[in-house]
This record gives sequence, C-alpha cells and structure tokens, in this order.
Amino acid sequence: EFQNRKILITGGAGFIGSHVVRLFVKKYPEYQIYNLDALTYAGNLENLKDIETASNYTFIKGDIIDANFINTLFIEYDFDSVIHLAAESHVDRSITDPLAFVKTNVLGTMNLLNAAKENWKKNFQNKLFYHISTDEVYGSLGASGLFTEETSYDPNSPYSASKASSDHFVRAYGESYGLPFIISNCSNNYGSNQFPEKLIPLFINNILKEKSLPVYGDGNYTRDWLFVQDHAEAIELIFQRGRRFETYNIGGFNEWKNIDLVKLLCLQMDEKLGRDKGTSEELITYVKDRPGHDLRYAIDATKINSELEWKPSVTFEEGLSRTIDWYLANQEWLSNVTSGSYQDYYIKQYQKS
Ligand code: NAD
Repeated sequence: EFQNRKILITGGAGFIGSHVVRLFVKKYPEYQIYNLDALTYAGNLENLKDIETASNYTFIKGDIIDANFINTLFIEYDFDSVIHLAAESHVDRSITDPLAFVKTNVLGTMNLLNAAKENWKKNFQNKLFYHISTDEVYGSLGASGLFTEETSYDPNSPYSASKASSDHFVRAYGESYGLPFIISNCSNNYGSNQFPEKLIPLFINNILKEKSLPVYGDGNYTRDWLFVQDHAEAIELIFQRGRRFETYNIGGFNEWKNIDLVKLLCLQMDEKLGRDKGTSEELITYVKDRPGHDLRYAIDATKINSELEWKPSVTFEEGLSRTIDWYLANQEWLSNVTSGSYQDYYIKQYQKS
C-alpha cells in the first residue's frame, strides 16, 4: 500500500466502475481518484451523485479511443496507476455492431497501455496497470468443469473476442516492455446501477410493468453470478495486494441456470409487490436463441480465495433481494437512464458556463 496514489479509473460512470470509484473515494481520502468516462448510453453520473463533491475526486469526460487526449491526460495528471474498466460491455450489441467493440475495448486499451508505458518507463516501480476483464474470454464450458487462470482463451462473441484481445495486449506489454500489470477475469455481476438492458434489471423492470420475460432458448444456460459490491471489494484487494504480472479469477461459486434465476426473481418480486405467488412466472416466454451463445460459465476462484482470503459477503438470495429493493426504490433513476434525461443533468452539473 502507498500513501499518495493518483489513480486513473476508466469507465467509472458505468455499472461496476461507479462502485469501484465510490469505494476508493470513500476509503482512501489520501488518494486522488480520477474518473475518466465518455458517458456513452451506459455511463451515468447520477451513479456517483453522493461523492461528486469529494475533494479527492475528479471527473474527466473523454474517450479512450483518442490517443492524443489520453497521452495529454497522463502528462497533465501524472497517474501512478490505472484501473481500466471502460468498455463496450453488452454481448447482444456486439453482435449487431462488433466494430464499436474493437474500437473501445481493443484500441482504447492500447491507447491506455501506450500512454502508461511512455509515462512510466523511466521507473516502473510502484506503477500498476490493472485491467478488468471477464470470464467470457474462456469460451463455453460443458456440464462440468470450471475456468481457472490457466484455461485457454476461446472467445465466441465479438464482445468476448475484443476483451480477450485486450487481455492479450496487456500481458504482451508486461512481457515486451516490463509494464507492471494485473488482470482479473470476473463472472456475471448484478446489483444497483446496472443499465436495464442486462438480464436482472431488465426483468425486474418487466415484472414491475407486467411485461413478458424473454428467456433465451430452453433457459438452461448457466451463469455464475457475483454481487457488484463484492466484485468492487475484490478489485480493491487485488489492487492493493495482488501480485504483479498475474491473473486472478473472481467468482462466488454461484452457478444458476437462467430459468431457475428468473423463477427466483419472480418469487422475490411477487413477495415484495404483494402479488399472489406464481403471478410473475406467467410472464416468462421462451425466445429464439442468440448466435454463439455459450452454454455455461463457471469460475474457479480458488486462487483469490486462498492467496488474498477473499470471498463474497452476501448469498445470492440476499444480494438479489437487495438489488430488487434498490430498483424499486430508484425508479426515477431507471426512467432517467432510459430516457436520456441524465444528459441534461450532466450539462447542468458540468457545463455551467
Ligand atoms: P458498463 O457498460 O456499465 O460501463 C462501461 C463504462 O465505460 C460506461 O460508463 C461508459 O460510458 C464507459 N465507456 C464506454 N466506452 C468508452 C470510451 N470509448 N471511452 C471512455 N469511456 C467509455 O460496463 P460494466 O458492466 O460496468 O463493465 C465494466 C468492465 O467490467 C468492462 O470492462 C467489462 O468487460 C468488465 N466486466 C463486466 C462484467 C459484468 O457482469 N457486467 C463481468 C466481468 C467483467
């Protein structure tokens, strides 16, 4: 641990990034936290309203695709570490617009790597490029087995291919130039502030509005779910105590078939909304599968469990219940992020002149 870190967090206005920014700003008043975000449809400064006036926090609007801009930022602020979360993150969007994923996830990561290398190369000591990635890079598992840090990469969607590519570049910069890096690959996250195109917030919203719940294929797809605050804490721990030039898998040994997850969600929603048990389940409809759909992801989190003594703080039932409560209490947030009125908020807040 170091006293006066200057940390660049990219993608801090997004779902996971906002939890990471909040954690660091609150826990480390002696650090300077710079949140760089382009504010795409997925980025929303309302996610950080509670900390935006903190003296150790600076928001910078900008695009990681712009190499000159990124270089200038490194020179101006002299960051000593990067936690890189900015990305195009939605698999379905990657199937319709793969190039956008190459630009942000591959080129954007390259620009950050280059700027870090150039600005740090005289002295790599105490520097860290921490790249946040996904378990989707490992491809699909059959009915058994788990992804370990040694599992070969085998991405199937343009999203996972772009993340795999960025992981490879980060490792290559470590090997070729000695840039100190860490990569972590995490399972599916859920929790507050997630854009309502992703399964859990989408379905909470649909159940609330009594709209249908489109489940892909036969619903037997299996995912490993982790509460977003637990991911943020794992990131903090890895940042502080993880070994340089290493990869850590992050997961809660918490596999759910999609259909079982949706049924649990329906049950909890019925209870919270005072509806008869079974009401929401009637909204389930099965829809045509998406192409390249991976059957099963599951993380072996033994390394982070044993090396860093990390484990999730909540059960899935508890985390899901807290997530539903948050969405029910923040329906204004939900309508704001989908209507684009947060753009007005941004203009009011940051472009006063
Ligand atoms: P998100 O889509 O909610 O947020 C991404 C953020 O990046 C947004 O604030 C967006 O405005 C910003 N951004 C996008 N393009 C940018 C650009 N060109 N320049 C600057 N900022 C840009 O994503 P998320 O779910 O919070 O995921 C964050 C990271 O974690 C991603 O790298 C993702 O691959 C990884 N990850 C996500 C999950 C998950 O379940 N959501 C799981 C494992 C890993």
